[in-house]
Amino acid sequence: MPVCVVKLCKNNTTRNKKDTGITYHQFPADPVICDRWTAKVRLSREESWWNPRERSVICSNHFNESDLYFTKGGLKRLCKGAVPQNALFLSSTLPDNISHKSTDASVNASERTVRRKLKELDFKACRPARKPKLTAAMKAKRLKWAKQWQDKDVDFWRSVCFSDESTFEILQNKAQYVRRRHGEKFHPDCVVPTVKYPTKVMIWSAISGKGTGRLYVVKGIMRQDQYKEVLENRLIPQLREWFPNGEPFTFMQDGAPCHTARSVKAFFGRKKYPSVGLAR
Ligand SMILES: [Zn+2]
Repeated sequence: MPVCVVKLCKNNTTRNKKDTGITYHQFPADPVICDRWTAKVRLSREESWWNPRERSVICSNHFNESDLYFTKGGLKRLCKGAVPQNALFLSSTLPDNISHKSTDASVNASERTVRRKLKELDFKACRPARKPKLTAAMKAKRLKWAKQWQDKDVDFWRSVCFSDESTFEILQNKAQYVRRRHGEKFHPDCVVPTVKYPTKVMIWSAISGKGTGRLYVVKGIMRQDQYKEVLENRLIPQLREWFPNGEPFTFMQDGAPCHTARSVKAFFGRKKYPSVGLAR
């Protein structure tokens, strides 16, 4: 009996009669696509060790409508390359899946009741936060770092200057939703214009408990030579402004290659500045 491997789902062929329209799809033969499915299921199950079996299936509820099509014979099929997207997490099981879920679990509760209960339990439907993927080693390093600094007081943190660079893209429209009528998919008001080569600009700056530093536009890519120049001509005047007359401070930066290059380390050594690397 095929059971959908999405833990929250519990759809299976015996529970769902054919007329529910739910179909079950085996993991694809293409190893790349198969890995993507596996990664989704691992995240959803919170089981990093999970692997599909030969007969493992995912039900059609987890795929976008546009990834499914009907054959001439009326069979629902999955487009090549489709990856499960929907209802993989508790917070994402709203709103379309509530009704079928509660009936599947033989719970006699209306959609409204489920929504109210979720609200009572403080589950909000949110867009998942995007976070860089961390390896076990990176997590261990970060935890060690956090433990090392956890007892520092607010005064200490006010005297920390942190600097980094970040890339900003011009013409980056982050609209996530549009409200449109049928046939307006490509209406100029409803599209996010993309450009092939977006204008990007890298900015370096610093912050501390004293305020925000001035912005420096990085020329091209920040490498150690430019970084040393920035430290000398931007960071040091800023530090003097924030921490005059030998006021103590700590400079922190992450472990980006240009921050940890030998010549940069030597620079901090010469300046005798207390410089601390953040765990990466
Ligand atoms: Zn399912």
